[in-house]
Amino acid sequence: MSDSWNAETTKALLLYVAEQLIAHKALLTEVDNKIGDGDHGIGMSKGMQAAKDKLNALPPTDDVIELFEVMGKAMMMSMGGASGVLFGSMFRAGTSGKAPQSTLNPQDLATLIGEGLSEIKKRGKAHVGDKTMVDALEPAVEVLQQNSEEGFYKMLLAAEQAAQHGVESTKSMVAQTGRARYLGERSIGFQDAGATSVWLIIKAMREFAEVKL
Ligand code: ADP
Ligand code: MG
Repeated sequence: MSDSWNAETTKALLLYVAEQLIAHKALLTEVDNKIGDGDHGIGMSKGMQAAKDKLNALPPTDDVIELFEVMGKAMMMSMGGASGVLFGSMFRAGTSGKAPQSTLNPQDLATLIGEGLSEIKKRGKAHVGDKTMVDALEPAVEVLQQNSEEGFYKMLLAAEQAAQHGVESTKSMVAQTGRARYLGERSIGFQDAGATSVWLIIKAMREFAEVKL
């Protein structure tokens, strides 16, 4: 399927993702309150607001790569801490060393997010099963890559479902990293906040693609 988005559409996609994460600030705070320090909603909405501001302030561009770079960098600079670097990497890592390009196709998006996952695992050293964002992102990336010939909507719908299963899977895990690791067995029964954000990001992308069908 020859599905591709120009820079204007890609910018609208990223702004929509940012708005949706800001809109879910209370949910993310609630989830992080259970086993973390309750700041994930605040951090994420701060990062997404900074991303929105930077994208909106950008001079008109034809380069879709630049948009992801600006988004990830704004998150890293504004969120602080490990999760700023990790979530910023989800958008930014796949842009490094890439030549400008005027369109984004499903394969490009799958590759970008896949490179984000690699960087997150390199930096954070978490694996599937450790009760982190990786538990939602790794299955989502696998599905993105398997479905990249299906067009944006089908690809993202499948990835959203994989991410959601990933979030569910964190409920039965004992946290091995991040603040929740201090709780040990007491982290069982609660979903991971970062995994929840990954699901919301992919879900927002699917919603955007659905409207653009
Ligand atoms: P903090 O842990 O500094 O309070 P946040 O609350 O914003 O930061 O983010 C917490 C989330 O970050 C966790 O729910 C988890 O998904 C993710 N996270 C923490 N450490 C790691 C790691 N080493 N690798 C991947 N993700 C991590
Ligand atoms: Mg926290």
